[in-house]
Amino acid sequence: MPDWCDAHNHLHDPRLGGDAAGLIAAMKSAGVTRVVVNATREDDWSAVARLASAHPDVVRPAFGIHPWHAGSARPGWEQRLAAMLEAHPHASVGECGLDGWIGSPSIEMQLPVFLAQLRLAAESRRPLTIHCLKAWGSFLSVVESERFPERFLMHAFGGSLEVARRLIGIGASFSFSGHFLHPRKAATLEVFRHLPIHAILLETDAPDMAPPCDWRTHPLPDSMNHPANLPAIGRGLAMALGIGEEALATATCANWHRMFG
Ligand SMILES: [Zn+2]
Repeated sequence: MPDWCDAHNHLHDPRLGGDAAGLIAAMKSAGVTRVVVNATREDDWSAVARLASAHPDVVRPAFGIHPWHAGSARPGWEQRLAAMLEAHPHASVGECGLDGWIGSPSIEMQLPVFLAQLRLAAESRRPLTIHCLKAWGSFLSVVESERFPERFLMHAFGGSLEVARRLIGIGASFSFSGHFLHPRKAATLEVFRHLPIHAILLETDAPDMAPPCDWRTHPLPDSMNHPANLPAIGRGLAMALGIGEEALATATCANWHRMFG
């Protein structure tokens, strides 16, 4: 059984029931050996830090502020985020980014919060995980004007091949979500078929972005995504790329270690 590495989830999310040890045991028996757990706001940084110190062999922490929570960032958060990174040498910055799908907070409100995290990651040479949804115009303006960190991940990348090629030019990697196995996401799956394998990682985004029912090896109520669904997501992508699942597992784990190791 190959090892699988999850580039992005939210294992600490209370919707998963609070039994992190049980979830990690299920992940391990499915072959998932590594995961980056992303905070989404300052209030959950300590939960992510606790998870990483309880399971240092499996969990890498990421601390950041998600664009949906940009409006509630409290004064001084930038300094506190820098201090969290200093205290956790293996931590990355995330999840952060721009989201034009959610009406509020506005992109104008999200932008300074994103820029501060981008600059902090670049200055501290930490990997950065970026969420970009329906905000490609604003995001590409940032690409024009800012220095990006050497390592950054476009999580659940749903942009065009043209945007992907532009970002590969500045060192981006892209994570594939099980949600993209839905037939209505065929255009996104097609983009991944054209990306170089060295730039592809896999993610669950658990408890969100579940794959279609047929691909859920660990079904949960309310269509929530279990983090042990990752190998099935990998099998789905391997089929689409026309390569063996073992080859995909090996390549995506090597990419995970280059990004977050
Ligand atoms: Zn996420």
